[in-house]
Amino acid sequence: MIERNPGFSNLQAGYLFPEVAKRRREYQAKHPDAKIISLGIGNTTEPLTPHITKAMVDYAKSLATAKGYSGYGDEQGLTELREKIANVYYPKMASADEVFISDGAKCDIARIQTLFGKKVEVAVQDPAYPVYVDGSVVVGAAGKASKSGYKGITYLPCTAENDFFPDFSKVKPDSLIYFCSPNNPTGAAATKAQLKKLVDFALKNGCIIIYDAAYFAFIRNPKLPKTIYEIPGARKCAIEINSFSKLAGFTGVRLGWSVVPSQLKFADGTPVKQDWNRVMTTLFNGASNIAQRGGLAALDEEGLKETKGLVDYYLENASLMKETLTGPNFKEAGVKVFYTGDSPYLWVQFPGMKSWDVFDRILDECHVVTTPGSGFGPAGESYIRFSCFGHRADIKEACKRLSKFIIK
Ligand SMILES: *Cc1c(COP(=O)(O)O)cnc(C)c1O
Repeated sequence: MIERNPGFSNLQAGYLFPEVAKRRREYQAKHPDAKIISLGIGNTTEPLTPHITKAMVDYAKSLATAKGYSGYGDEQGLTELREKIANVYYPKMASADEVFISDGAKCDIARIQTLFGKKVEVAVQDPAYPVYVDGSVVVGAAGKASKSGYKGITYLPCTAENDFFPDFSKVKPDSLIYFCSPNNPTGAAATKAQLKKLVDFALKNGCIIIYDAAYFAFIRNPKLPKTIYEIPGARKCAIEINSFSKLAGFTGVRLGWSVVPSQLKFADGTPVKQDWNRVMTTLFNGASNIAQRGGLAALDEEGLKETKGLVDYYLENASLMKETLTGPNFKEAGVKVFYTGDSPYLWVQFPGMKSWDVFDRILDECHVVTTPGSGFGPAGESYIRFSCFGHRADIKEACKRLSKFIIK
């Protein structure tokens, strides 16, 4: 018989979100009348906006005509969309031929691991979005798990003590460094000075940064960088992964992009872009042409206005939640809320308590689903992630219940 890929047997059971869903299901089964509200999974809830939707509808209709039909397009994406992304988000920082259109950021992160194979060293922020580590385990770049994490992965704790920005001194030379800003789950958005430290470290130590900017649209502080390429030298050491999911509510539509600068090279001098182009053309067959029309519309004047409105809505949810979570009942119990207003996630510390215990109590006493911080890595223990994706009425109701939550 065929041997199982050890990458899969090395993966630890209990992926975070299925466990959250299971506990919710079991609770609902026992308490059928409970009206559970989810502030858990990072999924968008508000409808697509009119201008962007119209572009997709019109294009889908034209596909049903002999004149408008088209089959496969360029695997790297529509030239017009690549140009628009470069012009709108990376002026003087990246060119259209360095932008690759995809079916989403998570898929790009998984595919990117095929570029580096199993020998590469990997460093991740702790806590972190699970695909960086799990994907590395699947391709064999990381080994079996022990108490201190998977073998071959360097975990970089991001805690209140270090302002959620890690110390890189333990990162081995020639590592792949996954870095997410604004961060899921901590909500921390790195400053220019912090990203300069990251870029300088990578340049000095032969590292490549995989910069996940999926939440860049939530940055409201004008001083914060929205792309890693605002930092000098980043074109020589960083790949940026991005997405329309959180920007335009495309979580179900599926559209993302990556930026691989021409100057980024492997040890033998081969441009990384050359191999990435190969991955995209050989292992991927292009993003949906309908979704790409939506992406184009999202980047014109009307679309940019609409997506800003969409993100503003979620940010308003977040400020309502911040008000609640900093209320007297939380304050008295010593609960600390970390939230700067530049991300959809509030990272909330319940000192002396375990994340899963807090999760169970909030589910039981408030009928609100959250995400336990420890599920994102050991440094997330005692934290809870509150997501601001939700309808306003649900958010208000959840806040009402949480304001009566007795913590200790
Ligand atoms: C939601 C999310 C993504 C996923 O993006 P898709 O484009 O929908 O695949 C990527 N990175 C982070 C950190 C996310 O939270």
